[in-house]
Amino acid sequence: MTDSHTSSLALPDGQWPTLEPGWVWLCGAGPGDPGLLTLHGLNAIRQADVIVYDALVQSAILDWARDDAELIYAGKRGGKPSAKQKDISLRLVDLAEAGKRVLRLKGGDPFVFGRGGEEAQTLVQHGIPIRIIPGISAGIGGLAYAGVPVTHRDVNQSVTFVTGHDQSGNTPNTLDWDAISRGSQVLVIYMGMKHIGRITQALLDAGRPPEEPVAVVAEATTPAQAVLETTLANVEADIAASSLEPPAIICVGRSVLMRQVLDWQGMAKGEAPRNLDPLGRGRPAEQR
Ligand code: SAH
Repeated sequence: MTDSHTSSLALPDGQWPTLEPGWVWLCGAGPGDPGLLTLHGLNAIRQADVIVYDALVQSAILDWARDDAELIYAGKRGGKPSAKQKDISLRLVDLAEAGKRVLRLKGGDPFVFGRGGEEAQTLVQHGIPIRIIPGISAGIGGLAYAGVPVTHRDVNQSVTFVTGHDQSGNTPNTLDWDAISRGSQVLVIYMGMKHIGRITQALLDAGRPPEEPVAVVAEATTPAQAVLETTLANVEADIAASSLEPPAIICVGRSVLMRQVLDWQGMAKGEAPRNLDPLGRGRPAEQR
């Protein structure tokens, strides 16, 4: 890695991989907060000649690029047709074949509902060498910023990540909502805002209780983060009555109740820690 670049952010001493000309690194940028980028991600950003980035990548992260790096926006939102996906993948091929050091920067984790697998496969099929840099996915890190643990011993032994959109922008027909309802105590729904009515109806039809807790976390981990706590029966109406917009993560399950004690952002704003028992464990806190 060259040190001629101006960014003041230093990586810790160590052996960091070199982004070579003609390579593409696919990197997750995390859900929003620039502090959730990994060190490998920062190492990549510091080296790239070209950064092809998505809508959900925060500009603060792009500010860490080299001054002379080319930044290419490849945003697409809300289940738009997949033709554009082909353009993005082939653009990456062209850039690599032109001898650029290419960074493909995607929101969250590149392999979680992010088409990273498709892009990576296209690159490999064209003989372009790749490296994958995982990122913190919104369905885990975004919920953590809202004080919702995706697993908790008293709630769930499994968690299911679901997309509310398929390639055509519809609720995925291939999903067996009955099986999903029965199979997992906690569901984490990506891209669920548009079809929330159909999704909740499918879950209710499958026997999930109407009073089951639901959290909707919009713009998670950014300064605009907003959290709606509601129930399966009310979530559609409550979203409609709110000003919440995508991107949002929707969590269905009793782990949402843990917010009552784990809302650490409230504590950062001065609220006192609350000694509550939201899951009704009936046990006092561990004694010293
Ligand atoms: N690869 C990404 C997901 C891409 S799909 C990841 O691992 O997080 C896009 C969806 O991710 C959005 O519709 C939304 O459901 C979710 N998402 C991404 N960033 C988000 C954020 N900051 N806050 C809430 N949801 C987010």
